[in-house]
Parts: sequence; structure tokens; C-alpha cells
Amino acid sequence: MNGPLRTWTVASRKELEAWARYHGTTVAIAEQAWDHITYRAEAVDRDGTRFRCTYREQIPPRVAGKRRAHTYTVTMFHGPGGASCYHVREVTPEPGAGDDPARLAELLAAAEIQHERRALCGASVENLTVLTTERTYPADGPERVRV
Ligand SMILES: [Zn+2]
Repeated sequence: MNGPLRTWTVASRKELEAWARYHGTTVAIAEQAWDHITYRAEAVDRDGTRFRCTYREQIPPRVAGKRRAHTYTVTMFHGPGGASCYHVREVTPEPGAGDDPARLAELLAAAEIQHERRALCGASVENLTVLTTERTYPADGPERVRV
């Protein structure tokens, strides 16, 4: 079913969007961390060859510092007693005014785990339980952030 995969990167978001438009596909976020976001678009040729085009956006230091402070490592599990299945995700929520960033991190982690794992182990937003939610970079005071 899956043909060969060809990947490459482009130098700007604009270029990636142009590529996606040309191939009649859409740009999605493939991966994100506090200091970067990777965007990706994929297309399949008539012969089954898959094309994957990515753009990695570096987040400006000032914004990245804030994101780093709001990065959480969330450990969740699901399944009965001894047979529990554990998942760990590092997520960076973007809290609005009044939001609890740790709570947002848990929601984000659960959604991500469900998306990636539901078909494999049955993890879902409904059956995942939070074990721990911790700041990934606890030593950072706001003024000590170096990027
Ligand atoms: Zn699982």
C-alpha cells in the first residue's frame, strides 16, 4: 500500500504552503517544542510515491523563553491495575489569561496520546488518567532563561 517516501525541507512557511496548494493538500503541525514548530504537508503521486515536505520554524528567543517555562512533562496511564499502559508526553500549551497551564498541558497530552495511540493500545481522552504533571524545566526562573 505504502509506496516509497521522499522527504525534503523548505526554507519558509510560505514555500511550504505554496507546495501544499500545488499538490492539493494541507499544511499540518507535525511536531512542536518550546523553541520550534515543524510544519508538514504530504502528497501521494499516482504511482504511490509519497512526498513529505517540511518546514521548521525557529521561535524567536523572547517567545521561546515563555514557552519553555510553560513546557510540561505529563505522564498518563490507562488500563486496569497491573496491566496499565503508560504514556509520557512533553507538551507546550499556550495558556490564555486565567487558564491553568498545567491543566491545559494535561488536556493537550491526552489529545496527543489518543491521536497517536488509540488504534495501537486503546488510549483515549476518556480512559487516560494523569499520574504526574511537572514542569520540564523547573530550574528556570523567568529571568534566568537562556535560549
Ligand atoms: Zn496505551
